[in-house]
Amino acid sequence: MPTATRPGAPSAATTVLPAATTDAPPADASPADAPPTTALATPVTVPPPTTPLPATPLPAQEPAAPAVDLVVVRAGEAVRAVWSRVADCEADLAHWFGALLFSLAPRLREHFPTQADPAARRLLRTTVTAMSAVDRPGELPVAAGALARELRALDLDEAADEALGVALIGAVREFAGDLWAPGADDAWVRAFSLAAAPAREAAAALPGVVGATVVSHRRLSWDLAVVEVEPDVAVPFRAGQSVTVEIPQRPRLWRHLTPAGAPRADGRLEFHVRAVDGGWVSRSLVAHSRCGERWRIGPAEGGTVVDPGAERELLVVAGGTGASVALALCEDLVGQAAAGVDVRPTTVMVGGRTPEDLHTLDRFADLAVGEPWLAVVGVCESDPLDTELAPGSVVDAVARSGPWLEHDVVVAGSPAMTRATTAALLVDGTPLDRIHYDPFTDDGS
Ligand SMILES: Cc1cc2nc3c(=O)[nH]c(=O)nc-3n(C[C@H](O)[C@H](O)[C@H](O)COP(=O)(O)OP(=O)(O)OC[C@H]3O[C@@H](n4cnc5c(N)ncnc54)[C@H](O)[C@@H]3O)c2cc1C
Repeated sequence: MPTATRPGAPSAATTVLPAATTDAPPADASPADAPPTTALATPVTVPPPTTPLPATPLPAQEPAAPAVDLVVVRAGEAVRAVWSRVADCEADLAHWFGALLFSLAPRLREHFPTQADPAARRLLRTTVTAMSAVDRPGELPVAAGALARELRALDLDEAADEALGVALIGAVREFAGDLWAPGADDAWVRAFSLAAAPAREAAAALPGVVGATVVSHRRLSWDLAVVEVEPDVAVPFRAGQSVTVEIPQRPRLWRHLTPAGAPRADGRLEFHVRAVDGGWVSRSLVAHSRCGERWRIGPAEGGTVVDPGAERELLVVAGGTGASVALALCEDLVGQAAAGVDVRPTTVMVGGRTPEDLHTLDRFADLAVGEPWLAVVGVCESDPLDTELAPGSVVDAVARSGPWLEHDVVVAGSPAMTRATTAALLVDGTPLDRIHYDPFTDDGS
């Protein structure tokens, strides 16, 4: 297996690979195949009216304040105490929350996708996470930022806050039953107000949603496509970050995608998209997106910050479309090397089920030319006779070539691949705090 070296050391070989692309006939991913729509119009019994939310939000705590108000502490504790007991029912609770919300404020229904439950669940979860952090100044800004992005994705402004708070508290109280202590209403209302205020501030500071035109769509296999879009104005992002995307075939269903590469001078974004089983957006995007159609792109978020000159060596493990993250990080590191940074030895392992999945390997090979610190290994599950590629899954390849005890590790890919790779590294002894990942899922699995 190639190994990466510091400049000056003997040069590492780079695995080079045929970028086989096929134009298989599109699989039928018509809306008729999509999962059934969950009807949210089911009548529900609205719990007794809850304490109305204060018209004016209570003053938010200063994040850096050394002492936290006791009332605020009680609010945070009350939310955590109840949520820890009802979180197992999150899916059912989210359905109630949505139903209550739409009965209290029917106009809000149009802000949610046809199948509203997943969006209601994400909104519920991010709101409760922020409410649980109101007495934890170190956590509140991050939690409020996540809530801000959720509110922005659903295009919900301050006018929705009262209905949101009443529906959320009503749904949780219904599921909490006897756990709902006297005084819980007041504590939850206070926590909601304390979380909503910084979330609204963060939402106001977010960059706006940008329109973009699809300029190319290449279908590499029945479930894989490379799509390039040209945003109307540049979308700022750091290599390895993702953006949220809304496509015209699936209005209001925002999904994360990771630009495959570092920011480009022409501002275009390239996405590698895998159609997942039963996926609403990915299947439609792979099968039905066309040049000229208009997308909406949300602000960049997440991503692992890689210090190019750090002492420890770097291992990047990418499975399937996780190669987008690896490409972005490598392009960025090559740019840093060109600018004179002594980039640390970096090994990239890119895995795919078929040779088509490894279509990015020729780009990695180009990047590695003249860069002895960069070694790239292609790993293919279904082509064991190809001597250029390591056989098996990328998880096997990591385990075989380890242990990676002295490395910082970035893992990018599906939730299953991320879990398996992380487990293999931990078993071999790589400390958890050296393993970094953004699992490619929006559903918390
Ligand atoms: C930070 C981040 C970056 C991402 N970058 C990319 C990218 O560059 N390219 C890309 O193709 N996707 C990427 N994803 C995944 C993408 O956002 C969607 O989650 C995925 O396309 C499924 O959406 P869907 O609407 O088709 O499926 P849904 O209708 O939301 O879900 C259908 C089923 O698929 C499962 N599922 C959801 N996500 C995945 C997954 N990633 N792998 C396997 N099963 C899944 C769900 O649990 C559910 O059972 C990224 C996700 C995150 C969080």
